[in-house]
This record gives sequence, structure tokens and C-alpha cells, in this order.
Amino acid sequence: MSVTIDGKSLAAKLRGELKEKVSRFAAEKGEIGLAVVLVGEDPASQVYVRNKIKACEEAGIRSFSYHLPAESRQADVEALVGELAASEKVDGILVQLPLPKHLDERKILALIPAEKDVDGFCAENVGNLAMHRETIVACTPFGVMKMLEAYGIDPKGKRAVVLGRSNIVGKPMAMLLVNADATVTVCHSKTSGLKEVCAQADILVVAIGRAKFVTADMVKQGAVVIDVGMDRDENGKLCGDVDFENVKEKASYITPVPGGVGPMTITMLLYNTYIAAIRRRS
Ligand code: NAP
Repeated sequence: MSVTIDGKSLAAKLRGELKEKVSRFAAEKGEIGLAVVLVGEDPASQVYVRNKIKACEEAGIRSFSYHLPAESRQADVEALVGELAASEKVDGILVQLPLPKHLDERKILALIPAEKDVDGFCAENVGNLAMHRETIVACTPFGVMKMLEAYGIDPKGKRAVVLGRSNIVGKPMAMLLVNADATVTVCHSKTSGLKEVCAQADILVVAIGRAKFVTADMVKQGAVVIDVGMDRDENGKLCGDVDFENVKEKASYITPVPGGVGPMTITMLLYNTYIAAIRRRS
């Protein structure tokens, strides 16, 4: 029987602490600002953006929200991001992905200065992470590290397996675990012997976007299992990449979906915005 890692409570606690820090900072140096850019009408993106703006308000961070039409031209989006990059009021810039297909996402993201890249996606911030230097870390893997820390799980010397190699979750997750002295294996859709590799993990982080893909036979007895996935099961109900009900019998610690990694992601976005403000204005 495992301990369920309560991401919702941890996120609430961290947000409470952050709110106080933000308020102290604002009293001394002025409001912290996060600009959120949404292009188009993707319903999921609209929900994510709404949640981020609401979380900002609750934390005392001012949000500047820009919603551009789906047919916006590359030059228009670039002009807006350029303006935000130069604005003194804006400490962090977030461009909600995915952008409509006709836009060059890479070119647009490249206009966000590293110091305002609160998603931690730009090459400079990723490079710093790879070199184990101080940087802004992608929110989801950063949130996972905070969860491990809060539950006293030290990756040092442990065998960690990261399932998924995306730029926003899998790769930065693997780098953070290496930096924390774990021995890390990264798996993906071309990995052979995937079950056997996963079953060797002391810490298994799963981010593939396949509902209930990780079954109990892929998990070592006593492993820590972190489920990043946000999927729908056969009944349309929100679930993760891990078969929670069965895997929880074998794991020592496990994150649920919902209520696990998800609430931590937005929390770390707020935290990154606060850190960006401190660095830029000190
Ligand atoms: P992604 O960009 O689609 O990447 C998925 C990764 O999983 C790829 O590396 C892919 O391998 C690998 N993969 C897919 N099917 C596989 C299989 N059958 N066996 C082994 N590897 C497989 O996804 P992502 O953006 O990292 O997101 C992953 C999941 O996390 C999604 O459910 C997403 O919704 C969720 N997510 C949650 C949060 C949160 O805050 N909770 C944040 C971000 C993402 P290849 O590279 O070989 O294609």
C-alpha cells in the first residue's frame, strides 16, 4: 500500500507562502506582472489560460492577458511579444502553446528574453539547466522535484526512469534528476524492452499521454511513481498515464490524476514569475 502524494494540498501551501512573498516584493519594488498570450480559439488552451490568470490574481501577481484571433499574422504576434519583451511592467511572458499551424512557433518563442521566459523553454534556460547552473526551469518537471522534496524523497543514488522525452517535460525532468544525483534512463516510443527498463526504476516519472499505460507489472515493488499524464479513460473521465488503482498496491509513493502533478505546474509558473521579477529588478 502506498502513500498518495497530495499535489493539491502541497500546491495550496506553496501558493500561500508565495502570496506573502509577492506582497512583500510588491510593497518594496512594485507589482509583479505576467503577460499571457493566447492565439486562436483552442478550447483546452482557453481553459489553461483562464486558470493561469486566476492563479495570478490569487497570488497577487498582475496578469496582462492578450487574446489574438486565430488568423493573426506572424508579424502581428511577433510585434506583440517584442513589445512585452521591452515592457518594464512585464516580468514574465507566457505564449500558450500550441500556436495555430500557420505560425512559426520557434521564431515567436525566440523573441522572449531568457530572463522573462517563465516557462523555461528557451535554449539559454535549457542550456543552463543542462550545465547545472541557476536558471528558470520548466514548470511541470520543476513541480515534480518540489513534490519529491516535500515528501522527503531524495533522488541521490537512486535509479530513475523517465518515460517520455518531450522538450517540456521528459528532457528537463531527466536533467533535473541527473542534477539531483540520480542515475537516469530516458525512455520513448522507440525504446526496446520498455517494461523491463521501467521495472528497474526506484523513481518512475511517466509523461507520455497514453491513458493508464503503465501497469503494475512495469513497476518495481516500493518504487516512487510520478504520473504527469493528463488523459481521458474509456468513459471520458480524466486519468493519468499510470493504472493508479493497481500500481498503488506496489508503489511506496504515487501521484493521483487529478490532484497530483497538475496543480503543481501552475504553482511553479507563479514561482518562476516571482523569481524572474527578483532577478530582473535587483
Ligand atoms: P509529448 O510531447 O506528446 O511527448 C510524449 C512522449 O512520450 C514522447 O517522447 C513519445 O516518444 C513518448 N511516448 C508516446 N507513446 C509512447 C509509448 N507507447 N511508449 C513509450 N513512449 C511513448 O507529450 P508531453 O507534452 O510531454 O505530455 C505528456 C503527458 O503529460 C500528456 O498527457 C500531457 O497532457 C501531460 N502533461 C501534463 C502536465 C501537467 O501539468 N500535469 C503538463 C504537461 C504535460 P517519441 O519521442 O519517441 O515520440
